[in-house]
Amino acid sequence: MPRTLVTGGAGFLGSHLCEYLLKKGHEVIAMDNLSTGNVENITHLQSEKFKFIKHDVTEYIYCAGPIDYILHFASPASPKDYLEMPIQTLKVGSLGTHKALGLAKEKNATLLLASTSETYGDPQEHPQKESYWGHVNPVGPRGVYDEAKRFAEASTMAYHRFHGVDTKIVRIFNTYGPRMRPNDGRAIPAFVPQALRNESITVFGDGSQTRSFCYVDDLIEGIIRLLLSDYHEPVNIGNPQEMTIKELAESIVKVTGSRSEVIYKDLPVDDPKVRQPDITRAKSVLGWEPRVSFQDGLEKTVDWFRTQKL
Ligand code: UDP
Repeated sequence: MPRTLVTGGAGFLGSHLCEYLLKKGHEVIAMDNLSTGNVENITHLQSEKFKFIKHDVTEYIYCAGPIDYILHFASPASPKDYLEMPIQTLKVGSLGTHKALGLAKEKNATLLLASTSETYGDPQEHPQKESYWGHVNPVGPRGVYDEAKRFAEASTMAYHRFHGVDTKIVRIFNTYGPRMRPNDGRAIPAFVPQALRNESITVFGDGSQTRSFCYVDDLIEGIIRLLLSDYHEPVNIGNPQEMTIKELAESIVKVTGSRSEVIYKDLPVDDPKVRQPDITRAKSVLGWEPRVSFQDGLEKTVDWFRTQKL
């Protein structure tokens, strides 16, 4: 039975990964310092095959026994979170990734790094291919996340090339689904609660900026395929269906049957104008593409938000 460590295991994506891996028969250790994660995301997973360790991965990681896989998902991941925790965001992407790679080397484990479409910054190539080096402002407010993840990718490739560690890098595009933290500052966890409360929907800027949203189950499937592949270069995983943020707000109003109106607020500094993954590589290397339509994914997500205290 494989033994797998998920850092950030109590977060949105981490908890879905733990659940999936347990179903596939792995023994799973979830590690999280709970700065943005929530134990409620994993309480339903309790069993003798699942262990939670509260730990900050920027500190030395101690794990007794063998480890086959490390999925390194610890990091604040919403613009609001990394603006409120800039130093922690820098530390977890740099020092935390270094610790996770050191553990992978020690245990002879495969490590998958959760990277991000933010490594492309405010992109001048559209859609974004993995070969694009990006357009990032290192000293802007998003720089702490973008540059930490770029450093994390460089560290991961160095451990692969220099130490021969088996590593994978996934560049995750906007993802949504159950267990997103309500009101964490991201568009979907802001808009759905606003719509369910019939409050104004706060679109930043004129809402013409675009994003491409992937349902969480599709993302997890792509990540596991990458983990089990022998491919070491970065792979985009995301849904290429692109929409404007205004269209997103309108879809949410429709699906929730809300009386909310859209209002417009200032656009945050360095907010990318466009974002859409080119998934040619994921299709050819992993045989992966998303399956869940935006309508179906949004309905499932709204159903989950209805069960939450908003
Ligand atoms: N956004 C918005 N209103 C909100 C939260 C976000 O209009 O209440 C916008 C945000 O400015 C960005 C888009 O929605 O253009 C997606 O934002 P999110 O934080 O979800 O992700 P990211 O910017 O990292 O793609």
